[in-house]
Amino acid sequence: MAGLIKDEDIQLVRERVRIDEVVEQYVTLRNAGGGSRKGLCPFHDEKTPSFNVSPSRGTYHCFGCGEGGDAIKFLQQIEGLTFVESVERLAAKYGLQLRYDESVQQRGPRRDPQQRQRLLEAHRLAAEFYSTVLQSSPDGQAGRQFVTDRGFDQSAAGTFGMGFAPRGGEELVSHLKGKGFTDDELTIGGLASRGQRGLYDRFRGRLMWPIREMTGEVVGFGARRMFDDDRIEAKYLNTSETPIYKKSQVLYGLDMARRQISSSSQAVVVEGYTDVMACHQAGVRTAVATCGTAFGEEHARILRRILLDHDAFRGEVIFTFDGDEAGQRAAMKAFEGDQQFTAQTYVAVEPRGMDPCDLRLADGDAAVRELVASRIPLYRFVLENTLTKYDLDRGDQRIDAVRESVGLASAIRDKSKTEEFLREIATRVGVDVDQVREEHRRHKPATKPQRI
Ligand SMILES: [Zn+2]
Repeated sequence: MAGLIKDEDIQLVRERVRIDEVVEQYVTLRNAGGGSRKGLCPFHDEKTPSFNVSPSRGTYHCFGCGEGGDAIKFLQQIEGLTFVESVERLAAKYGLQLRYDESVQQRGPRRDPQQRQRLLEAHRLAAEFYSTVLQSSPDGQAGRQFVTDRGFDQSAAGTFGMGFAPRGGEELVSHLKGKGFTDDELTIGGLASRGQRGLYDRFRGRLMWPIREMTGEVVGFGARRMFDDDRIEAKYLNTSETPIYKKSQVLYGLDMARRQISSSSQAVVVEGYTDVMACHQAGVRTAVATCGTAFGEEHARILRRILLDHDAFRGEVIFTFDGDEAGQRAAMKAFEGDQQFTAQTYVAVEPRGMDPCDLRLADGDAAVRELVASRIPLYRFVLENTLTKYDLDRGDQRIDAVRESVGLASAIRDKSKTEEFLREIATRVGVDVDQVREEHRRHKPATKPQRI
């Protein structure tokens, strides 16, 4: 059982760690005068920054929710770590060696203090291993062909760290065990599964994308099915939840897109790994994707913290939904979610239903950039989808169309935006705006939209 970290080593961590560097892994900070810096608080939902960081004092404080402390506390809070885990992680980041006082036994459940570092190291080595297989092994041939067929060259595959999981089923396990990793580390990290005859590789015969945190560290993988005899039917497999991988908090490509998102105040959300690659290759360097899950409130919060511009969130988030039903449902869901976010949300729809990767293959890089530039506000996209159900040449249908459309207006809580929307409905349907206003007044929402 590990003892407590020696006090003087904790003190050393406090002195060496730069609080602004630690916070900036999660939050965009700007200068706030007097040597202090501020950004959007990661601990409560806010639109104007009240989260202050003082590099000279090594502390942070939020005037909105009252949270505050030093770098150790910050990491504890944002990553859900214990005090000791937080000190260990900071020490590892800054290359500080910790000493433990073995005479004092730690209370509470047993825990491997180095677990996170070990799992990150295992993932780093796994990514390296998969990458070598993709580049040079006969097993990787199918993967190399796929990369080429999708319009990517070797250097693009290298930039994104693409790899290939061998078909044999035990290659990665024996590689990592040869490097000293235990069975538990490989299964807990999601790299291996336990079968009747021992461990086997979690990913077999699949094309691999390492999923990196904002800091660039590999925390998981996305894996595409390549062979018909693959016993796992799913086209895409992702790392399941592990101590270092939480899919609700991961955006693929964010490590590369982050700076560009911050400087251009724009983020593009696409649906797959190849779409992120296609966008970046085409010059849309703000593209990210969720990994095996729908875009959720936590993803929105992460983007908002990066998009912070001066005192307010002024960025644009552009979704490339395809026109299909799932895409439209996702749009409707976003519409009912965070209003501030919704107001900044745009949709870029390719008329033929092509995703960015297919579009780039068919029409080249410029077409991808044009798709993003052709974005329309989310509310207009939702309105258009609603109106397609009606024949607007018929008077009775126009009335029904107005009735349903004003229901959308009720989801808008920002009253200044409501009037604008009502006018747009009137124009699109071809009725007088007073008639739309009247319907809107009479409209009683069946259920109050849930505030997230
Ligand atoms: Zn706060």
